[in-house]
Order: sequence, then C-alpha cells, then structure tokens
Amino acid sequence: MQTETKTMKQDIMQVWNKRPLIISGPCSAETEEQVLETAQRLAATGRVDMLRAGIWKPRTKPGLFEGIGTKGLPWMAQAKKATGLPITVEVATAKHVQDALQFDVDVLWIGARTTVNPFSVQEVADALRGVDIPVLVKNPVHPDLDLWTGAIERLQKVGLKNIGMIHRGFSAYGNTEFRNAPMWHLPIAMKRRFPEMLLICDPSHICGNRHMLQSIAQKSIDLDFGGLIIESHIDPDNAWSDAKQQITPETLGKMLDSLAWRHENTSEQEFLSALSKLREQINHIDDELLTLMSQRMKIADKIGEYKRANSITILQTNRWNEILEKAIAKGEKLGLSNEFITKYLDAVHLESISHQNKIMNEE
Ligand code: PEP
Ligand code: MN
Repeated sequence: MQTETKTMKQDIMQVWNKRPLIISGPCSAETEEQVLETAQRLAATGRVDMLRAGIWKPRTKPGLFEGIGTKGLPWMAQAKKATGLPITVEVATAKHVQDALQFDVDVLWIGARTTVNPFSVQEVADALRGVDIPVLVKNPVHPDLDLWTGAIERLQKVGLKNIGMIHRGFSAYGNTEFRNAPMWHLPIAMKRRFPEMLLICDPSHICGNRHMLQSIAQKSIDLDFGGLIIESHIDPDNAWSDAKQQITPETLGKMLDSLAWRHENTSEQEFLSALSKLREQINHIDDELLTLMSQRMKIADKIGEYKRANSITILQTNRWNEILEKAIAKGEKLGLSNEFITKYLDAVHLESISHQNKIMNEE
C-alpha cells in the first residue's frame, strides 16, 4: 500500500513538472456519463495531461448551477481510473479539501473568488497542513497582486512545496471584449516575484467565448507561460455553466495542434548573436529615451517656475487635450496603438505635474 501511494506521488510529480502542462475538462461536473465521456475523449486527443472539473461552483449570482457537490468526486476518481489522467478540482473550504483528499484528487486549485478572501485561503491552507499535494492558485478577480501573493504565501507557510499560479484575467467594469481582461503585465510581474513557480494561463475565463481562445492561448505561450487550463465539454452549448466558452475535446485537440509552441532558450549561435545585436539596439534606444525624458522634465520645471511667478494653475486641460490628440494621430501613423500612447502620455503628464508641483510649492 505504501509503495503504491509512493508511485502515485511520483507519477503526479512527473505530470506536474511537464511543460507545457495541459489541463482540460468541463467547467462543472454534471453527470457521471458527462465526466467519463469528456475524460475519455480528452485522453484520446493524446495532448491533455490532467482532467479538471468544478465540483463546488462559486457563482456570482444565486440561482445558477452551484455544482453537483461531493457526489461528483467518485465520477472524477472513476475517470482517472479509466483514462490514467490525474484529476484536479477547485476547493474553497476545509470540507472541500477533506472530501477531495478522500477521493485521491491529485491537484487542488483555488478559484478567483476564493483568492480574494484571506479567511478562506487560510482555512484551505490549514486543512492542507502536513499534506503533500500540488495546489494551483488563480489570480483574484480584481487586479491585486498582493492578494495573489498572499494566498501563495499562506500555502507556503503550511509547508506546501508544489504551488502554481493560474492567470484567468481580471474583472473590469463595463463591457470589454474579454470576460476578464488579461492585463498581461500582472502575471508577468508575478513571474518576477516567483521566478521558479509554474504559471499557466486560463484562456476560457479570460475570453468568456470560444473564438478568442486560440489567440489568448498563443499569447500566453509567447510570454513563456508553463501551460494551459482550458474548459471542454462533450456538448458545449448545453453545459450547465460557462456554456459560451467551452469547446469539445476534439476542438481542443485541434487547437493544441495548431498552436506554435516556443521555448525560452536555444543554443543556436546565429540566432543568439542576432538577438544580442537587436537587444543592444534596444538598450541604446531605452537609454536615449530616458535622457530625453529627463530633458523634457527639466523644461517642465522651467514652465513651473513661470507658472509660479504668474500664479497660473498647473493643470491646463485644453493644452493637454491638444497634446494627446496630436500624439494619438501621429502614433497611429507610426504603428503605435491608441491605448499605448494614452497610457504613455498619462504617465509622462503625471511626472510632469509632480515636478511642477514641487517647484510651485517650494519655499
Ligand atoms: C472555473 O475554473 O470554472 C472557475 C470558477 O474559474 P474562476 O475561479 O477563474 O472564475
Ligand atoms: Mn468555468
């Protein structure tokens, strides 16, 4: 019995360490047949490493399907037995953890609505004290990197060694093209905080639809993510939750085939020397940009002195709108996006205001 548990642990570590790590399965476990058939069809693609399904579903509004509950766990265990795919489910309470462990779930994940709540994360962490199981932590629903980090640290503190991150996008107010905006700079910042930690992308919950899945998956690969978690269903249109974003196992298989898989490093000399030349150019340009920016701020300082002498306000909206409009039009011609120009100029403007503020309030 001891040897059997040990072998299973080694197996799951092999899967956990595979790159890219591909996880798929339905948003929710619905029926025994649905879980089994999904698992079998996913296994048949030969491209999926782990089966996912939500057993307890934290839904934003009451009245929606809130998960089949503990009775779905034997279905997952059966699917594992039939296909050899390790299984992962979402946990949000100590009871979820106990139930999942009882059915030999291989990997747990903490959902976005749980990561936001330190009480819940701590409860899950406490239930995992002394347990050796990999745990994936989704980003919180809103863009707060410290909450995401805090959840990881709570798990580390109870002794968990195998922790990974799932980027599932961040909610934004109003209609955007995404269900949850990817805000790529945030997972990239997390990668800097935890350089050795697995980071995978969840295009399903970022997109909220099927047609953008592939491009988001590709983008995450290009950014050196370690894998993907994508929802799949045997009858996507009739799924009990997240119907719009689910795809069949076969569609998933084709999508995975057509993605361009990249790796971070190569030893090919020609490529490396071309890359290093281009990087030198970039360093040079970045240097020049900083020098120019500092010159620009010195001019802003001078304007501040004039404004102070003449008692004029710092913020002059008309002038700023004029700069912005001109820059956006020029940026468009130069191949720079409207979004970039706006963010860039906003940052420059804030720095300029802060410089002038100092000058105007000098004793
Ligand atoms: C899910 O994975 O089905 C889920 C509920 O996702 P999230 O926690 O990212 O909303
Ligand atoms: Mn879902």
